[in-house]
Amino acid sequence: MHRTASRLGRGATKREMNYASLRTCDIANGEGVRVSLFVSGCTHKCKGCFNQDAQSFAYGEPFTREVEDRILDALAPDYIAGLTLLGGEPMEPDNQRALAPFLRRFRERFGATKTLWIYTGCVYELDLLPSSGEAIGIEYSTPHRRWRTEVTDEILSMTDVLVDGPFVEALKDISLRFRGSSNQRIIALKKCDGAGEYPA
Ligand code: SF4
Repeated sequence: MHRTASRLGRGATKREMNYASLRTCDIANGEGVRVSLFVSGCTHKCKGCFNQDAQSFAYGEPFTREVEDRILDALAPDYIAGLTLLGGEPMEPDNQRALAPFLRRFRERFGATKTLWIYTGCVYELDLLPSSGEAIGIEYSTPHRRWRTEVTDEILSMTDVLVDGPFVEALKDISLRFRGSSNQRIIALKKCDGAGEYPA
């Protein structure tokens, strides 16, 4: 896909992004009935990836303003608990830049009445926080700092729950709620200020 950029407010750069699919009534990816957006593009290359097509940034359809409007309208009914972003990798740097303006619209329209869940193959402390993840004893071969962009902190500030970590086939466990492998964590960023696991 040809990728272009234009300057927006708050220091963010809007980028083009494709999305693989959209579910407007999803009960599998977070608490309650949700609208789930599967974005395209992921460089984690987890062995046994459940969504290999969506690893390509060119897969799917362009994430346009009209798609944003459709998602926001789908979120409106009271029975919809919130929005889930997964993929693909929502925290790929270019995807962060494409999603940040949309998430501002999401929060402007719904405030705190809807929750935002993000699924990422990144490890929260290691890849997404400014401080080093060495303190928690996790080492991956990814060049960790490349995940942090000018909008990473803003996106995390708008996120209620982060499901983090790569899919590890050896740790696959189909009994886990909302996760594929046992290394992945459900982190309540709002409830625990990023410090704790989501209540079971
Ligand atoms: S993070 Fe998800 S989409 Fe990306 S390779 Fe791993 S399982 Fe596949």
